[in-house]
Amino acid sequence: MKDYSILLYYCYTSIENPEEFREQHHFFCLGLNLLGRVIVAPEGLNGTVSGLKANCQKYMEGMKADSRFAHIDFKVEEFETHAFTKLHVRTKPEIVHVDLLYIDPNQQTGTHLSPADFRAMKDDKDVVILDVRSNYEHAVGKFKNAITLDIENFREFPDKVGELEQYKDKKVITYCTGGIKCEKASAFLLEKGFKDVYQLHGGIIKYGIEQGGEDFEGKCYVFDNRIIADVNTVNPKVISTCFVCGTNCDRMVNCANAACNNHVPMCEKCGWETEGTCTAACKMHPEKRIYDGTGYYQKNTNHYNPYKHARREKNLAN
Ligand SMILES: [Zn+2]
Ligand SMILES: [Zn+2]
Repeated sequence: MKDYSILLYYCYTSIENPEEFREQHHFFCLGLNLLGRVIVAPEGLNGTVSGLKANCQKYMEGMKADSRFAHIDFKVEEFETHAFTKLHVRTKPEIVHVDLLYIDPNQQTGTHLSPADFRAMKDDKDVVILDVRSNYEHAVGKFKNAITLDIENFREFPDKVGELEQYKDKKVITYCTGGIKCEKASAFLLEKGFKDVYQLHGGIIKYGIEQGGEDFEGKCYVFDNRIIADVNTVNPKVISTCFVCGTNCDRMVNCANAACNNHVPMCEKCGWETEGTCTAACKMHPEKRIYDGTGYYQKNTNHYNPYKHARREKNLAN
């Protein structure tokens, strides 16, 4: 039974007092028994939470009732349970760390393409599809023919734009998981002289929901307990290979050695043989965890209290 929803959303909007908003918002989420991560910054909000469907509905209605967030585009997926183990509501300088604080996507950004428009346009001859995500993300899935960047973190994106000179006069469409990175990435491309820049609005996730994910090869890396999500129901394709034996495989495991925790594709057979570890050294390591066939290890949640940090000064835990 898929009684839960997973929400993915962001909003560039001015939040005057982020710390005060953060506190209110933390209580709002607690009241609805939501788990997940929300980042609050003076420039807006970035979140992914899970909860019972009715509670997620109340959350979305509550947010949209606030004029600052009325235009939030929620990506909603169904799930059997919570997709997170904790709730964190935090303030940060930017809602996605890329050190482009001066860019306001409400002033300048690439043209938003709906999933349907993207699907219609993606195969045009003069179109270049640019994946702005990191290596560990595009390694498990990306759009057919997309250009990827060798980056470990989105913060490295601005430095990589120099390598894209040859596409300056093409139609460049950027995409990411939920659309948030593209807001600034596409603005940055425009600033660097790219003429015709578009972005897939709502990212891979929304494209999967609305257009069946056509031509997305592999799986989509997500930032919740699922680790990867299926998005393509039209023409799915496996692009990753088992880290150990090289057979086609899109099953991801975290190395059982807690000190390594490397995230690698590994087939079922090799999983059991290596006891879920990525190297011989990891297999011998004293911090090796017990492999149960999933390659997923629940983070230690002992003493976790959702009310911790809920208030700015007082700690309600006591
Ligand atoms: Zn294998
Ligand atoms: Zn390892």
